[in-house]
Amino acid sequence: MVKNSSRIELSQSALQGNINFLKKQIGPNVKLSCVIKANAYGHGIESYVPMAEKAGVNHFSVASSAEAYRVKQVCRPATRVMIMGILYDEDLDWVLENEVEFYVFHYKRLEKAMAIAEKMEKPAQVHLEVETGANRTGLILESLEKCLKLMKANPQHFNFIGLCTHFGGAETFANDFKIQKQYKRFKDYYKCCQKNKVLPQIRHLASSAAALSFAASRFEMVRVGVAQYGFWPSPDVYYYHLTLKNKTIETGLRRLFTWKTEVMDVRQVKEGEFIGYGTAYQATHDMTIAVLPLGYSNGYPRGQSNRGHVLIHGKKAPICGLINMNLFMVDVSHIPDVHIGDAVVLIGRQKNNVINVASFTESTQLMNQEMMSRLPADIPRTVVR
Ligand SMILES: *Cc1c(COP(=O)(O)O)cnc(C)c1O
Repeated sequence: MVKNSSRIELSQSALQGNINFLKKQIGPNVKLSCVIKANAYGHGIESYVPMAEKAGVNHFSVASSAEAYRVKQVCRPATRVMIMGILYDEDLDWVLENEVEFYVFHYKRLEKAMAIAEKMEKPAQVHLEVETGANRTGLILESLEKCLKLMKANPQHFNFIGLCTHFGGAETFANDFKIQKQYKRFKDYYKCCQKNKVLPQIRHLASSAAALSFAASRFEMVRVGVAQYGFWPSPDVYYYHLTLKNKTIETGLRRLFTWKTEVMDVRQVKEGEFIGYGTAYQATHDMTIAVLPLGYSNGYPRGQSNRGHVLIHGKKAPICGLINMNLFMVDVSHIPDVHIGDAVVLIGRQKNNVINVASFTESTQLMNQEMMSRLPADIPRTVVR
């Protein structure tokens, strides 16, 4: 194997702490589904799934059949996988064969699944998603009733696992008006199931924010994405939690993630010389510069040009000039004895210093999730203690 120009380390103990914390918040009667769409928010599905299983997770949610396929290659046989988003008709055979759970937001999807279930003599693992006010995907009341009738008439072909919906913005408390409306509508859809005498095994609508701040919305399962990776969904949710627990600080969630590389070259630059492309950076004094072997094509945001910093020998080294496609330069004039091969931390801790994903968010306007999920899949992810 040849070596990639950067590497990501994932902390098993941090993840264990996060899962324990989340389970404690939601209580013993609520199931935890870990949302690992977008390559596990950049953490890497293949490395992350076994880690999470070890930490006590046995249900994963993904956005597509392609992601479900990747999970199934690495997960334990008994682990459940649920597709919340795009599922192509041509993948339905594979999905039913492998007992993958999936959202239904069209009546037609249910008919197609039934035809395959009949052929395979294997029931479809169905979650009916209902429209409560986010207006992305979901059945309206009339279509829900149609689905319920089909399932009631053909019980051998369906496992009606879940009734579900998604809050559009529970992380911002100013949205409460909308969120409460969605919550109420969701309960109305459940009444419709009761009326038709076709009941789901579970109900679920809460993602990280609602799971941590809106207890009544947890029902029988929560779908937690960003929080499992150690990020609070928003300041609203964080401070609500502190108030609720009468605390001034909460350390229950920790980042798992360290992104590292090494110094590729060290060079002297004379006062007045330019560094990298164009005239973006002119040396104001004689400088020592470290060259790093990655750039925007390797996931390091170009918006960090001339801003931001990395850690070398535990000290902050500011970025000089533009982020190139595969290189960028940092000022190490103030850090003694920097050599080729020295460890560089791009995100995470080194000695007493830390660079958060959030610091990228401020300079590049990328959301935490966006920054993480864009990290290229080919960067190797390794699990550390
Ligand atoms: C992404 C997603 C989640 C998880 O959201 P977080 O805010 O990261 O916890 C839950 N449910 C659905 C349908 C999603 O798309």
